[in-house]
Amino acid sequence: MSQAFDVVVIGAGPGGYIAAIRAAQLGFKVACIDEWKNAAGGPAPGGTCTNVGCIPSKALLQSSEHFEHANHHFADHGISTGKVTMDVAKMVGRKDTVVKQNNDGILYLFKKNKVTFFHGRGSFVAAADGAYQIKVAGAAEEVITGKQVVVATGSNARALPGVPFDEELILSNDGALRIGAVPKKLALIGSGVIGLEMGSVWRRLGAEVTILEGLPTFLGAVDEQIAKEAKKAFDKQGLKIELGVKVGEIKTGKKGVNVAYTNAKGEAVSLDADKLIVSIGRVPNTIGLNAEGVGLQLDERGAIVVDGDCKTNLPGVWAVGDVVRGPMLAHKAEEEGVAVAERIAGQHGHVNFNTIPWVIYTSPEIAWVGRTEQQLKADGVAYKAGTFPFLANGRARALGDTTGMVKFLADAKTDEILGVHIVGPMASELISEAVVAMEFKASAEDIARICHAHPSLSEATKEAALAVDKRTLNF
Ligand SMILES: Cc1cc2nc3c(=O)[nH]c(=O)nc-3n(C[C@H](O)[C@H](O)[C@H](O)COP(=O)(O)OP(=O)(O)OC[C@H]3O[C@@H](n4cnc5c(N)ncnc54)[C@H](O)[C@@H]3O)c2cc1C
Repeated sequence: MSQAFDVVVIGAGPGGYIAAIRAAQLGFKVACIDEWKNAAGGPAPGGTCTNVGCIPSKALLQSSEHFEHANHHFADHGISTGKVTMDVAKMVGRKDTVVKQNNDGILYLFKKNKVTFFHGRGSFVAAADGAYQIKVAGAAEEVITGKQVVVATGSNARALPGVPFDEELILSNDGALRIGAVPKKLALIGSGVIGLEMGSVWRRLGAEVTILEGLPTFLGAVDEQIAKEAKKAFDKQGLKIELGVKVGEIKTGKKGVNVAYTNAKGEAVSLDADKLIVSIGRVPNTIGLNAEGVGLQLDERGAIVVDGDCKTNLPGVWAVGDVVRGPMLAHKAEEEGVAVAERIAGQHGHVNFNTIPWVIYTSPEIAWVGRTEQQLKADGVAYKAGTFPFLANGRARALGDTTGMVKFLADAKTDEILGVHIVGPMASELISEAVVAMEFKASAEDIARICHAHPSLSEATKEAALAVDKRTLNF
């Protein structure tokens, strides 16, 4: 007799594990299936985010930033260290410990919330008697049933056509997060979030980094003024970013990788590197799910087709996170997971796609919410802009990091905040205030009138809001 559940969630990344916990909180009998294995073959729930994405990348960014500070900035504070060295194996080991703490945390949360966890691959068998049969292929094989199924099977790194990842010389995000020694020369293809973050880690540790980008503009989705400021900072750091390139043949050999490309001027260039990270986007993952077998509709990208409520074409089957349309972000997946669990319970789960924040955890950090100036222009919206530089912020000066600015975009007539864009220290934390403000439909003046602690970086947010009406107090 197969175990019967109200809700079966396939995938325990941020979309799946959060959906499972929320469904259990709402009183459902819930199972969550995930196939990710740790090095010992045990369960490692948390998905891409926990195992080879958000968490490990931030652990390495933190370690490499400490290294950079010790090498280049401690002296400004009167601290002398002598020669600073980096034990890469220890850094990677620490990252693995952080990952394991998160894996274990999720297993604990499943127990706490009475979610039954299955370690193995979940696939649709058939629909029968108002429920779906789901095969779990792990150490053993069994079939469970769920009246409702939430698919949260995430995404995989996109490879260049004809250039498969070997994770030794040609690396996806997986291999990029466990390079064993600092490469002398590192090449990356793709200057998106992952390329910039990984490039920053290894540049800080001493690699000569070249990022090749096919598009002619840098960070096209980011507000132009902010992207320009960030590019200036990356150039100063020595992160070499070549835009508008056309990548040709990629060869691997005993000495590493050779990338042949045509640069923006049309010149043929041959780039040698010890390793190549390919970060050109991710593809939705439905491998082994037997989507076709039950008629689950996919689009031409391989994403599961869903409506605005994350409902698929099959009754009682939902899909969330990277495997569906929308930005591939962990917090977007989580919000959809919560909303779906609440909709299953007959509640009105809601995800506001207009207030999903974006963050790039480089130094300076880049964060934004809402529309960019170029989008407002394209949409024909009359707007006012206000900026405030961290150079004029006391806390930023005390920190020794005055790169960048906060920028507000507000409706010209109503003053409603339409977008907030930050490049600078702790942008990832500062953006939350803007998200809250936009969620509550605040005006720039609302933020300008709120008392902000002194000295704090958040005062730059208040000042940028004041700048919308051209009345900054400290600049
Ligand atoms: C290097 C890197 C850095 C990133 N940094 C950030 C960041 O800072 N902030 C941010 O918001 N996002 C970041 N992301 C993106 C983020 O990781 C994803 O958006 C997020 O993980 C998507 O969550 P998900 O639940 O949809 O899928 P995933 O996290 O991919 O999880 C899917 C899970 O489903 C499991 N699975 C798949 N198929 C099956 C099956 N048939 N049976 C059982 N289990 C299955 C997989 O093993 C996996 O555990 C980063 C990504 C990368 C690669």
